[in-house]
Amino acid sequence: MDFSLTEEQQLIQQAARDFAQNDLFPEVIERDEEQRFPKEEVRKMGELGFLGMMVDPKYGGSGLDTLSYVLVMEELSKVDASSSVIVSVNNSLVCWGLETYGTEEQKEKYLTKLSTGEIIGAFCLSEPEAGSDATSQKTTALDKGDHYVINGTKNWITNGSSAEVYLVIAQTDKDKRHKGINALIVEKGAEGFEIGPKENKLGIRGSDTHSLIFNDVKVPKENRIGEDGFGFKFAMKTLAGGRIGIAAQALGIAAGAYELALKYSKERKAFGTEISNHQAIAFKLADMHTQIEAARHLVYKAAWDKDNGNNYDLSGAMAKLYASQVAMETTVEAVQIHGGNGFVKDYHVERLMRDAKITQIYEGTSEIQKIVISRSILKG
Ligand SMILES: Cc1cc2nc3c(=O)[nH]c(=O)nc-3n(C[C@H](O)[C@H](O)[C@H](O)COP(=O)(O)OP(=O)(O)OC[C@H]3O[C@@H](n4cnc5c(N)ncnc54)[C@H](O)[C@@H]3O)c2cc1C
Repeated sequence: MDFSLTEEQQLIQQAARDFAQNDLFPEVIERDEEQRFPKEEVRKMGELGFLGMMVDPKYGGSGLDTLSYVLVMEELSKVDASSSVIVSVNNSLVCWGLETYGTEEQKEKYLTKLSTGEIIGAFCLSEPEAGSDATSQKTTALDKGDHYVINGTKNWITNGSSAEVYLVIAQTDKDKRHKGINALIVEKGAEGFEIGPKENKLGIRGSDTHSLIFNDVKVPKENRIGEDGFGFKFAMKTLAGGRIGIAAQALGIAAGAYELALKYSKERKAFGTEISNHQAIAFKLADMHTQIEAARHLVYKAAWDKDNGNNYDLSGAMAKLYASQVAMETTVEAVQIHGGNGFVKDYHVERLMRDAKITQIYEGTSEIQKIVISRSILKG
């Protein structure tokens, strides 16, 4: 067993740390307040190779492993989880899905641009009546011979208005239930494809979350990913890897809040001494540090499983479940350690606390992770 990072992994971790401090940090409060998408920052992340991290260099990617991707997600999320979710969706859901299951033509046409950040993508599964219960798809993609016609509404779509390419999951054959679902590539600007208003969110406010409306949107057959009826499996396989990215996001949020709380506790004085000298505060820091380290081991292990060709359904679900719980608990304690200052924006921990909550909801809620985990251990 080797817990050390390679030299390459350490370099990429440092590059992400530097980028987060130099480029994400300066306007992170303003972007959160104004719900401003980090357009320029995303462009720079593309240049750094953060948007197609695991993609083969022949399609413009960085050709790195999942652990490197996790390290980058962790560092970006310490500072700005709105930016890291853009990275997560583009890498784990869109690029990975296309590279693993797409045709050569689809990879040439879309993946080469997505992996360099020339464009970004969105993953469209959720609907008003199909969230956790993703098999209840109401959006239809009817087979019309050489093309499909999509009708319906998707909601909560990350990169909703900024994406150029949308991977849309829709029902083709209702009788076949989840085996009658397809995944289709839809381009922005397709006739009948409308972007709904932006959601006004509790956290990750810099990311743009929208509903999408499809009115008789024609999609050529060559834009289907995989065989006819593969769409649900495509979504589940893709989300299994996506969870590792969100687990890393949760880990980063927790670690960012902890670092701020640790620093503050050594500066702030009460009763004639630094608050870190009060055992109640020191013990909070001890708990936070221990939980973050435990979450880190789970997240890195899930990435290691993926890199080593092991099944990562269980390890990814455990990593997401635990890291998101640690993110929530740690950020609440970080606010507490900051006292009144924790309650205002300038000290960053209130934002991290708001951002932490989403990691328990998207890409499968905590309850859904427990279903995945319990099914896996009970069948074994
Ligand atoms: C900011 C944001 C960004 C998102 N980005 C995307 C995106 O890019 N693409 C996309 O497709 N979706 C996205 N989502 C959607 C997200 O994945 C769903 O919100 C999530 O899966 C939960 O679905 P739901 O909201 O319909 O909740 P519901 O499924 O209605 O769940 C409500 C509650 O019931 C619980 N519950 C449901 N079923 C069970 C069960 N069987 N057992 C126990 N408890 C259960 C849930 O855990 C939850 O607590 C995003 C959501 C948000 C808020």
